[in-house]
Amino acid sequence: MRIIRVRHKEQAFYAAIVSPESVRPLNREDGQPEEIPLAELELLPLVRPSKIVCVGLNYLDHAHELGLAVPEEPILFLKPPSSVIGAGDTIVLPASCEQVDYEAELALVMGRTARFVAEENAAQHIFGYTCANDVTARDLQRKDGQWTRAKGFDTFCPVGPWIETDPGDLHDLALRTTVGGQVRQEGNTGSMIFPPHLLVSYISNIMTLLPGDVILTGTPAGIGPLKPGDEVSVEIDRVGFLLNPVIGQALDEPTAMQ
Ligand code: MG
Repeated sequence: MRIIRVRHKEQAFYAAIVSPESVRPLNREDGQPEEIPLAELELLPLVRPSKIVCVGLNYLDHAHELGLAVPEEPILFLKPPSSVIGAGDTIVLPASCEQVDYEAELALVMGRTARFVAEENAAQHIFGYTCANDVTARDLQRKDGQWTRAKGFDTFCPVGPWIETDPGDLHDLALRTTVGGQVRQEGNTGSMIFPPHLLVSYISNIMTLLPGDVILTGTPAGIGPLKPGDEVSVEIDRVGFLLNPVIGQALDEPTAMQ
């Protein structure tokens, strides 16, 4: 099932896509029609997370391309909720960055509060799966020594286009990045060092995961830079296709440093 978040008659809710033209509200309220035409809906951001928990170096080939050791435990960092944009929204390259890279990632969206969850029970706490781009200012990541600024700019977390609740085998999802239609990154979730359910368990033993929280599961090899005018896509088989245009920050906009 493919799920989006919408507003209809001042009510915001999740709805399943039942045809190219209509959706069916989940948890239907009294008086709500069974199906609503897409044309009557306002599309809302897919997720409103309290936090976005990300995993660094979770694919062997990506650790190798960066010349870094394979981690013994998941390396975690956070992106702020304010970095989230949706499918079709514009990634803005900050004027203060020299190199901004794409990173295609499988995203998990939490459906139930998770605390001290065992790996074998993780699936019950996941609402579904979507495509994400962990946009990263690579120069600032190197310069700062920690990643808050490099990963945290507004628009640096495209997520979408919908939440797929049943993508099949999580350990065999091909994912790829294209820039201007050319394939730049290709991988498979089967190459993750720490697979999705282990990550939910590991993170839930550190912090409470709330419904709507997002976990980005890491990127395979092939990362590279974006430039103004690009169109970047993250495609994951049986999950979705996330396309975002890229622009440079206009010179008359305030920079992040002001
Ligand atoms: Mg990443």
